[in-house]
Amino acid sequence: RFAVVEQGPPIEVFLLNKLFTDDTNKNKVNLGVGAYRDENGKPWVLPVVRKMEKQMAADETLLHEYLPVLGLEQFSNSSVSMLLGEDSPAIAEGRAFGIQVLSGTGGLRVGAEFLNKHLKYTTFYYSNPTWENHHLVFVNSGFTNPRVYRYWDDKTCAINFDGMIEDLKNAPENSVILLHACAHNPTGIDPTQEQWIKIADVMEERKLFPFFDSAYQGFASGDLDRDAWAVRYFVKRGFELVCAQSYAKNFGLYNERVGNLSVVVSDSKLIPAMKSQLTWVVRGMYSNPPAHGARVVANVLSDKKLFDEWRDHIKVMSARVMQMREALRAELVKLGTPGNWDHIVKQIGLFSYTGLTSKQCEYLIQEHHIYLLKSGRINICGLNPSNVQYVARAMHDAITK
Ligand code: PMP
Repeated sequence: RFAVVEQGPPIEVFLLNKLFTDDTNKNKVNLGVGAYRDENGKPWVLPVVRKMEKQMAADETLLHEYLPVLGLEQFSNSSVSMLLGEDSPAIAEGRAFGIQVLSGTGGLRVGAEFLNKHLKYTTFYYSNPTWENHHLVFVNSGFTNPRVYRYWDDKTCAINFDGMIEDLKNAPENSVILLHACAHNPTGIDPTQEQWIKIADVMEERKLFPFFDSAYQGFASGDLDRDAWAVRYFVKRGFELVCAQSYAKNFGLYNERVGNLSVVVSDSKLIPAMKSQLTWVVRGMYSNPPAHGARVVANVLSDKKLFDEWRDHIKVMSARVMQMREALRAELVKLGTPGNWDHIVKQIGLFSYTGLTSKQCEYLIQEHHIYLLKSGRINICGLNPSNVQYVARAMHDAITK
């Protein structure tokens, strides 16, 4: 029976982590997985999360009973407010709701299956390039027609906006367009507000459906509201949409799988039927979500003082990323490394798309013990004051050898 099973391919980012862990070289640097690291290269449990967890551990009224299929309502309501803004007319009109899901991936998966099953959508478009899991999640959800829209121009290390618009103009009606709400992974380049307006124009005209992926709210600019601008703009324009929100990065709750699927509809009357069908989608997938991480997030988001503390943590993380961008570019310029390195500081979020070729990346891994994806994407938080010079010198070597 089981002899029919063939070896599957490795997942690049997890393989890279293993190679890094197994590497005994003292200079090794992990620029692969998209997780925050502090200035000493260590993971950071946010102090407000630690505080909340201690409080919860002491609270004997907290039980391990099942949550409802759609999760904690307080958590979802707070998440919708964080995304759309507390004063959002869509919330006031009762046209927005959320359901708790298994982090960002779970939101994409549940949202996609719902759109496929109940709206019969089969075509989806994702940016070229995008987060490597988008394709698989949508195909597994029943979407049979995957397509890409142009996004990155490797000659200019900037967005290929004309290409993107042309591809959207050619998309068939009712295609689902996957859009990164902010801090595009892997390129670190977001459309400008003027460009978002044009994207909305084309999507409205072509009757395309926006599916936002918000895995980095707070990480693009350090400001939660500014990072939600695109989603809020689409809502203001009157689009119905869904948005998968992840708390992996901005709360540092990677392995707790805390996420929300926010939904905005044209009429509040539509919501009960939609919730009933989402309940069946989740029921058949994992029955109901875990409570711990969602309780942490819900408690922080609904308490003004804790919320402000969390906002300060986000500022600390995003500011450190920006400093490291500056430091890496400064080192490369100092070394006279061929090429223009301005894109490293122009890009935002955790990642930089360096423009290194896959051969150069391979060389960095083999010769310098610096682990990065073969697309040339680096996680900027893997850099710190003790290793940034080493990384710049190694990049210089890889480029000039
Ligand atoms: N979307 C994007 C663009 C991402 O980068 C990630 C995390 N790497 C996710 C979704 C989902 O992450 P998670 O399921 O851990 O929240």
